Amino acid sequence: MKDDIDQELDVSWNFITSELKKSLDKDTYQNWIKPIHFETLLDTSLTLSVPTRFLRDWIIKNYASVIKRVYQDQGITIDKLSILVKENNDRIIPGTEVTHQDKEDEDDHYYDDISAPLDPQFTFDNFIVGKPNELAYAAAQRVAQSEVVSFNPLFLYGGVGLGKTHLMHAVAWNIKKRNPKKNVVYLTAEKFMYQFIKALRFKNIMSFKEQFRSVDVLMIDDVQFIIGKDNTQEEFFHTFNTLVDKKRQIIISADKSPADLEGLEDRLKSRLGWGLVADIHPLTYELRYGIIEAKAEQKNIKLTGDVLEFLANKITNNVREMEGALNRLAVHASLQDSEITVDLVKDVLKDLLRTNSRKITIDEIQKKVVEHYNIKLSDMHSPRRSRSVARPRQVAMYLAKSITTRSLPEIGRKFGGRDHTTVIHAIKTIEEIMVNDPSLAEDIELLTRILQTS
Ligand code: ADP
Ligand code: MG
Repeated sequence: MKDDIDQELDVSWNFITSELKKSLDKDTYQNWIKPIHFETLLDTSLTLSVPTRFLRDWIIKNYASVIKRVYQDQGITIDKLSILVKENNDRIIPGTEVTHQDKEDEDDHYYDDISAPLDPQFTFDNFIVGKPNELAYAAAQRVAQSEVVSFNPLFLYGGVGLGKTHLMHAVAWNIKKRNPKKNVVYLTAEKFMYQFIKALRFKNIMSFKEQFRSVDVLMIDDVQFIIGKDNTQEEFFHTFNTLVDKKRQIIISADKSPADLEGLEDRLKSRLGWGLVADIHPLTYELRYGIIEAKAEQKNIKLTGDVLEFLANKITNNVREMEGALNRLAVHASLQDSEITVDLVKDVLKDLLRTNSRKITIDEIQKKVVEHYNIKLSDMHSPRRSRSVARPRQVAMYLAKSITTRSLPEIGRKFGGRDHTTVIHAIKTIEEIMVNDPSLAEDIELLTRILQTS
């Protein structure tokens, strides 16, 4: 019932946005209205959500009254419009709700500082180094410590939550500490765009250019954001060139390498790749273990070796999830006044563990298994029954069942369209052999670890 009502309201939100679409230009609509998610409408209180704080503030400031007006046109009065921030459109970030006040100060000084605040926790000391991030770490250290510009730009890239922002802040802290007079500016590409649009709107583009072109070190985070935003890209390109010419250090981060940033202008792509491009690889088991251990200690959470191993094996996506997991564990342990055991972890982190395990695909399993046994990938699908290929195939089926959430028929289909009974037979066979053959048990353990940590 509640769902029905929500759905209906959501439909009416679709209607509202289609009205907005008519009255706004295409870019404005795409940039500001499209990302808004409808949450609830209770009496005269409307709650929306967006993926970032920045969007929230911008919408509250510039579009809240427009949205209210469109509702009013439909005969619905909105007294209170609140926007909260939801990470990945999924998890509400607590304390992020902001409500629109009708009488807002037009002259907004909130964003006047072009640099965004730095997180005091994001220091080199707090950064755990391992194989996947050692290049990025070394490059960041070099930039932070050298008196001359060694490579320009330093381009850091890697998946979400792998420490790009952390490293950038660490560089900024370091430079500021050594040289407090240096004008170090850190901001996201999103905020860069905001500043730019604001400058256009208030017709002070000259002072915008002036501000950005007088910095000593410029760091722009998540530059993929400006893809498709042509004017911002253009302005960024000019800022970039001016600073490079003046031999000022630039550090950029993105989720992909310059060459892979599809949709970015070619000349910008190539310039971004001029300096040092350092990627942060997905975390290995060792690094995950090290990070969890360090963070647990920082947060004063006591974890046994078992639990550490379990977490390092299971939470593989990124560091942010590890921190989330630790926080949850800490709360549960203190509420129930109980020790953190593997069972407690399994229970408290059920959802997180599920999303982390879904990641490994049957294709990956097959690939690793054929590498391990030195056979051909086609042997995974072929009807050949000779022992040398049949056994690895059974191992792969066994792993598919134990690591992924795929059903037996789905697994069968992935192995040359075999029947689910064949899969059951394979699993039973492997289980039986493992009991008496420690080398097969070791193979399985090794492969499981490789898959979960690669
Ligand atoms: P990104 O910018 O790549 O998405 P962040 O830099 O925001 O990732 O990192 C997400 C969280 O994980 C932050 O709290 C950060 O401190 C932490 N983190 C990431 N990598 C490490 C690391 N190697 N050591 C310690 N903490 C890390
Ligand atoms: Mg980041």
